[in-house]
Amino acid sequence: MSGLKRFFVKAVTLPGVPDLIAEATGTEGTIFMAHRFAVPDLGVKGHDPEALRRVLAELRRWRYDLISLEDAFRRMQNGESMKRAVVFTMDDGYFDQGLVAGPIFAEFDCPVTVFAVTGFLDGSLWLWWDQIAYIFENTNRKDLGAAEGGGGWFELAWRWQDLPEVDRLARIRDLSREAEVEIPEKCPARFAALTWDQARSLEKRGMSFGPHTLTHPVLSRTSDEQCEREMTESWRQLGMQVSRPVPVFGYPTGRAGDYGAREAATARRMGLFGAVNAQPGHVESGWLRATEENAYDVPRHPYPDDMADVLQCISGLEGLKSLLRSVNA
Ligand SMILES: [Zn+2]
Repeated sequence: MSGLKRFFVKAVTLPGVPDLIAEATGTEGTIFMAHRFAVPDLGVKGHDPEALRRVLAELRRWRYDLISLEDAFRRMQNGESMKRAVVFTMDDGYFDQGLVAGPIFAEFDCPVTVFAVTGFLDGSLWLWWDQIAYIFENTNRKDLGAAEGGGGWFELAWRWQDLPEVDRLARIRDLSREAEVEIPEKCPARFAALTWDQARSLEKRGMSFGPHTLTHPVLSRTSDEQCEREMTESWRQLGMQVSRPVPVFGYPTGRAGDYGAREAATARRMGLFGAVNAQPGHVESGWLRATEENAYDVPRHPYPDDMADVLQCISGLEGLKSLLRSVNA
């Protein structure tokens, strides 16, 4: 670690310092995006639940404003301050997000929104990248996927995510044949979703649910018909299953180019008041009112497990460091 970096990592954990940095960098609110939480008994890797408990305790101690995603959108729409606002979201609707993370968020009275793949919660599918992981875990073949460029299941999933859905499904079928591993119809426990019953009882404890499509395709790669169906049906199903669905869409994968004007227009027509992506950035008061498109392209930071990293992020220190690097260069 360089001297400068060590200085910042230390300084950012001192009381008052994150606020000074936020002031200097003009940073207001942050929306975090988390994925799975670790369940060692089932071999599920993910965020450390104890680290989440520490982070939420610290954020409460430092009096950060832990608000719901819906409140954040309302504030931004009204031009109210987003200073020190921190929002938590989790993607896809895995069981661990409810059963491991859910009680910890509830313990700290911290709102959290889960972007639910509604076909997954319905039990009608399991997620395609998990099927690839399952094949790799259960095969005896040492060189599996070599013809596809090699690497582990993650590399393959990464390379295949931009394929049209039919091609991707065909490749997963081929891979399962090559691996001599049959993909079970029913999702194995460690890859399972929350059930709707669990979602409803979590909703009573402060968790909320937003639409994240039916099957998790990269929307910009879908036909007009599929895009329409993926977005409107997931919102309709959510409305039937939970009592207060969050009217904000979560774009699957959420990189620049994974969604665009068509998806934003669909979300607007559906009556949703915004959408979030998966690109790091901060959120500010009035930003949604600046242009109509802004509401349908709201950034989220990947949630880091460590408190010093969380503080670097919410203070805007990351931005300041790259500025310093460019000044030094
Ligand atoms: Zn997702």
